[in-house]
Amino acid sequence: MVPYRTDNPYRPFCCKGCKAFDLGAWASEQFRVEVKPTTEDLLDNDGL
Ligand SMILES: [Zn+2]
Repeated sequence: MVPYRTDNPYRPFCCKGCKAFDLGAWASEQFRVEVKPTTEDLLDNDGL
């Protein structure tokens, strides 16, 4: 747990770990998939 900061890039989560955990839980509920790279990562690797 880290102090809440307005410049925290992981808002509304407290840190990267909590964001990944929450998104992973959400994804597994919505799509029944394992934790995958973020949409940003996929776009970065898309080459389009
Ligand atoms: Zn955290």
